[in-house]
Amino acid sequence: MSSNVEASQSQSEEAVPYRGEQPYGKLEDLVVPGILNLDYDERLWVPQAKDVSFRPLLLSVSQGYFVNLLRVRKTGILSRHRHAGPVHAVTLKGRWHYLEHEWWAEQGSYSFEPPGDIHTLEVPDGVEEMVTLFHVTGAYIYVNPDGDAVGVEDVFTKLEAARKHYEAVGLGADYVERFIR
Ligand code: FE
Repeated sequence: MSSNVEASQSQSEEAVPYRGEQPYGKLEDLVVPGILNLDYDERLWVPQAKDVSFRPLLLSVSQGYFVNLLRVRKTGILSRHRHAGPVHAVTLKGRWHYLEHEWWAEQGSYSFEPPGDIHTLEVPDGVEEMVTLFHVTGAYIYVNPDGDAVGVEDVFTKLEAARKHYEAVGLGADYVERFIR
């Protein structure tokens, strides 16, 4: 095949959708609307503590991670924890930091928390609302100041909390299934 024929073929088929079958066993893709609109639908926010809630975006039970928005409407210490896997964070509103580190997560910043990092999250005075998109692989292991485990949270605890909440607010327990992959 000459290069001219290749060029004309690729041009005429450029806008043709893939016409084969998707690989057997492939998971469904997922789109969640309105994630930058923090007033999108209050029912989607799952309470996890007083003035703290999360909105699930993806609950990956197949790979053991979750993507969610965390919303905090109080200042002070949120938790001390160790990460069993990597964490990626995009701060959408407000600012926060870890007592153990120099850096601050500011609105519009991206931060990476390496597996094994142990740190204590604080929202400073003056921040009325903090919202951050967290991609969390593995688990939060909540620890005391010596690093002893006192609690754990992972995709399955998030899933269970969301199921209960969506049932309680009338969306139905199965509403959460759209986020599961
Ligand atoms: Fe963390």
